[in-house]
Amino acid sequence: MREVIGLAEKQQQIDVEEAFGSFLREFSEPDAKDPQKNVEKYRDLVRSVVANKSKSLVVEFKDLVAFDRSLASVITSEYDAHAEELDAAATNLLAVESPDYASALRTLKVRFKDLPEKTPMRRLRSDVLGKLVEFKGVVVRASRVSPYVQKAVYQCMSCGTTVEITEGRRMRPPAVCPNPSCPSHQTGITRFRFLLKESVLVDRQRIRVQEEQEEVPPGQLPTYVDVELFDDVVDVARPGDRVDIVGVLEGEPSPTDPQDRILDTYFVANYIEVVDKGFEEVQITDEDVKRIKELAALPDIKERILSSIAPQIYGLGYVKEAIALSMFGSQPVYAPDGTRIRGDIHILLIGDPGVGKSQLLQFAAKLAPRGIYTSGKGSSAAGLTAAVVKDQKGEFMLEAGAMVLADGGIACLDEVDKMDENDRVAIHQAMEQQVTSIAKAGIVASLNTRASVIAAANPKLGRYMDDRTVGDNVNLPVTILSRFDLIYIIKDKPDSLTDKMLSDHILKVHMVTEQKPAIAPQLLRKYISYARRYVAPTLSEEAANALQEFFLKMRERSVSSDSPVAITPRQLEGLIRLTKAEARLRLRDVATVEDAQEAINLTKMYLSQVGIDPETGMPDIGPVTTGMTHTQQNRASLFLKTLEEMLDQSKGEDVDLEKFKEELAEKGMGEAEFERLYRSFLRDGEIFEPSPGKVNYVGRRKKYERRSMGGEVQAAEACRYGRSGRDSQAPSDVC
Ligand code: ADP
Ligand code: MG
Repeated sequence: MREVIGLAEKQQQIDVEEAFGSFLREFSEPDAKDPQKNVEKYRDLVRSVVANKSKSLVVEFKDLVAFDRSLASVITSEYDAHAEELDAAATNLLAVESPDYASALRTLKVRFKDLPEKTPMRRLRSDVLGKLVEFKGVVVRASRVSPYVQKAVYQCMSCGTTVEITEGRRMRPPAVCPNPSCPSHQTGITRFRFLLKESVLVDRQRIRVQEEQEEVPPGQLPTYVDVELFDDVVDVARPGDRVDIVGVLEGEPSPTDPQDRILDTYFVANYIEVVDKGFEEVQITDEDVKRIKELAALPDIKERILSSIAPQIYGLGYVKEAIALSMFGSQPVYAPDGTRIRGDIHILLIGDPGVGKSQLLQFAAKLAPRGIYTSGKGSSAAGLTAAVVKDQKGEFMLEAGAMVLADGGIACLDEVDKMDENDRVAIHQAMEQQVTSIAKAGIVASLNTRASVIAAANPKLGRYMDDRTVGDNVNLPVTILSRFDLIYIIKDKPDSLTDKMLSDHILKVHMVTEQKPAIAPQLLRKYISYARRYVAPTLSEEAANALQEFFLKMRERSVSSDSPVAITPRQLEGLIRLTKAEARLRLRDVATVEDAQEAINLTKMYLSQVGIDPETGMPDIGPVTTGMTHTQQNRASLFLKTLEEMLDQSKGEDVDLEKFKEELAEKGMGEAEFERLYRSFLRDGEIFEPSPGKVNYVGRRKKYERRSMGGEVQAAEACRYGRSGRDSQAPSDVC
């Protein structure tokens, strides 16, 4: 490109409109279908402009370079000065093809794609002002589309002369009427009226494009550019999209302080293209593919991968395996009706402070292609999903949050228990349906959040308490807990043997300056990217059987008796995803029974830590699916049933609280448990205190009311608590 610019300086005198017109008319290339024949590429494109009623002509810049290098360099270096000539040349050609469409359209806009040189976002500075440049980034905000006055027409109210204003960003009527014989020159009163019908309006949108994580120099924050989009390039990209943008950096005196030497700059896009989603950004060469396949063929490839994940963290093998599987993920499955079952694997780590959770998450975000790390409320107003924010210029913008930015990759959400209330509602939709929708301030959008989530949370009481369920330990609702495929508890328990090894490991990390993991992070990143792109394992018959056998065995106990449910179909789906990810990790197209066994082991580990009733030690998935263990549920229904019986005896008269407590104590309910249930039912509005020391049951009262209206009452109503969240085939003895 340097050489081209050099040439340009010598040949500045070319007539751009004329030269560009020749290019459009004469450029030809071999036909893709019949290489013997040549096609006139841009004449054909102009014809399709007419057919498609498009408003612009997209020129591949390499064609221009091939046709006329000096013209190409004039266009890049002095784009601003020649933009109108380019459009005029294209419009002339359009007029030849279709005079009607040309006159209706007025101007056919020329847009350029794929410049020979890309400019890093950090280099968009004064030396590129007015030049055509290309850069890439992530759209983080987008305003809505509004009409923009491209040509303002004003009419003098004294003499009727009209004036057209196209220059500048601000719309201002002239100070004096250009008509020399206008009476306003005598009176000194000049007034103009804005003519909407005569003016030219186009769509306009503003977006904010942020530097991609990979481009940010270490230790610095990403920069951003605000980009103005006009006409047919509005609404092309949405927040979260990776884009390539061609355009010009414009500068003009500040409207508030025109004498300021510092210009107001803004970027006007000439062309915008959404880059393919997902893991495509990672460049993989043929050489890389060879190395990746060699690695995959090694018998100990899994051990190598696991030992390359956060090598500075000692132990936690199963956690690292879970993280690895989440990074590899599995393919989504589509039902015939188009419904999608997610393939992404969500992982939650709950752990005492200082056990290495944040380190693991930060590592994963750095390693995974399109990985995003965010902690607590996140750094932007958009939080985890999306928000409508008002920017400095007072314009409402839709802003993408962490899950949207991680679309197609991994969202590492540290301290999820501290997230915003709004995010809580949105995040489970994001995790399961994998879209997030927003409607606010006139902006309505739904954005994709097809990201795997690796989340970490701290126990709400500082340390994890074994005698409580997971829901009572961590500040997360069941709706979110139930979306994770694996949940692991990491406890910081002093133990002389492991402490010795842990401290040895940490000290070694700090003594050796350079450590070499089994697989270098750059290569592992490519490996993961390759696997996600090209490997879509299916379950072998044996693998499917193994999973089914495990599922049925876990369910067996709850089928006929009143015992807790150990596992639900959700976990089975999780098992399938994990099994496929195990195969993907080895670049295998078919998941074997060994893969299934490893997925089962990880799931057993999860169930033994979380899917258990802390009071009885029995397997019980209730804490994750309903927020209550079977024991707690039985107690809750005993509570309501007893209250109901007492109300029956008293014919609906309010029950004495002390008597009620005694009655339950006789049935074996402890004081603390009674208080807990009492408070929670009171809070939920299930029971109420008609007067101090008295209690009544809302459901009960409804029953009486309905009965008095002559309707049949379903006994089930009162037994809601006995059943809620339990699977239908497990009848409760209470009802
Ligand atoms: P958390 O997020 O769980 O509170 P951090 O990830 O911030 O904990 O870890 C605190 C520090 O302790 C980190 O510097 C980490 O490297 C170190 N650390 C914690 N657990 C381990 C471990 N198992 N092996 C090595 N270092 C560890
Ligand atoms: Mg932490």
